[in-house]
Amino acid sequence: MSRRSPEAVLTPVRAREDFLVFGAPQIEEAEIDEVVASMRAAWLGTGPKVARFEQQFREYKGASHAAAVNSCTAALHLSLLAAGVGPGDEVIAPSLTFGATVNAIIHTGATPILADIDPTSMNIDPSDLAARITDRTRAIVPVHFAGRPCEMDDIEPLVDRFSLTMIEDCAHAVETEYHGRKAGLFGAFGCFSFYATKNLTTGEGGMILTRLESDIARVRILALHGMSQDAWKRFSDEGYRHYQIVEAGFKYNMMDLQAAIGLHQLERLEENWVRRQAVWNRYQEAFAGLPLLRPAEPAPETRHGYHLYTIQIDEADAGITRDEVLEGMTAQGIGVGVHYMSIPEHPFYEQRYGWKPDDYPHSMRVGRQTLSLPLSARLTDRDVADVIEAVFRVVGRSSA
Ligand SMILES: *Cc1c(COP(=O)(O)O)cnc(C)c1O
Repeated sequence: MSRRSPEAVLTPVRAREDFLVFGAPQIEEAEIDEVVASMRAAWLGTGPKVARFEQQFREYKGASHAAAVNSCTAALHLSLLAAGVGPGDEVIAPSLTFGATVNAIIHTGATPILADIDPTSMNIDPSDLAARITDRTRAIVPVHFAGRPCEMDDIEPLVDRFSLTMIEDCAHAVETEYHGRKAGLFGAFGCFSFYATKNLTTGEGGMILTRLESDIARVRILALHGMSQDAWKRFSDEGYRHYQIVEAGFKYNMMDLQAAIGLHQLERLEENWVRRQAVWNRYQEAFAGLPLLRPAEPAPETRHGYHLYTIQIDEADAGITRDEVLEGMTAQGIGVGVHYMSIPEHPFYEQRYGWKPDDYPHSMRVGRQTLSLPLSARLTDRDVADVIEAVFRVVGRSSA
């Protein structure tokens, strides 16, 4: 309460006066200086900083190969193409995810198939996944939702038995581990997002990890017009080299300006994770007595990425709807998010594939009840206290 003016203490209109933006990243002087250095050197596009960022990310994950791209959406699209997915194939994804997971499948010409989630982990339910496998299933795209790893002990045997390609959507899961193994290394491809709100940001950006040299080589060609060589090698001081277009590629490469941010974000990854873990635990304790559903504690022998802290509002318990809580939090000066309305709730998918929300009941319920609170390393203790106070005011029955 210390920051409020005397009048505000008498009539506390909202939990904070300045609006707390959801997902605002923590940017420090090191990133700013590195971007300025790239600007002064006038090397903005793909170059040595991208190469260094790829190498350092690959080393952090202990991966064989890494290629930086301009988004996780691009990473998913290229991975599916490099896996040979195309028209006539089916690819299974969870029904509770961001639209990009499904759109990337659609853009290959393949048919997306949804599997419902486990309501506790909010990750793809391995038994529903198994039930949706057909002769045409070519690949699966599990999402490590909120940073919690998928149940790989149940998923990997399906990949082996049905000769599927696994492409992990690790958009929430840079730091995630399952039974001592890192997210992004279970599949033939691991796809990461460095979007502004993600655990590690480059503004926009993404990364693809692969096991095979041949897969990363194909990804690199597809990411840059289908050209046989990197543009930055073409323009190096080794002299001009002709390039050849070997297929119709895309324009998905990362810029040095983006890598300049990522290099320093990567250096602070662990310290930022520790901070988000503390905030996650603080919320978890604070809301124990409120009429809302908190996320499950991380499972043993796993490392949660702590990307999202989600609560669920069941109107029957809370006496208020999720959307009323969204509005209430905004009115309290706290930016919140919804991750996510289930995929079948969106008109495009319903119209094109005939999917009904009711057919994926856990995803539907979570999608209609879930709300994400701010969880960024940028949050101060005061910010966290403001978020908690706002939740008590909006959801709390007696405690406001
Ligand atoms: C953010 C996100 C993406 C897309 O990432 P971009 O880098 O913005 O393309 C894909 N899947 C999930 C689960 C995400 O949260």
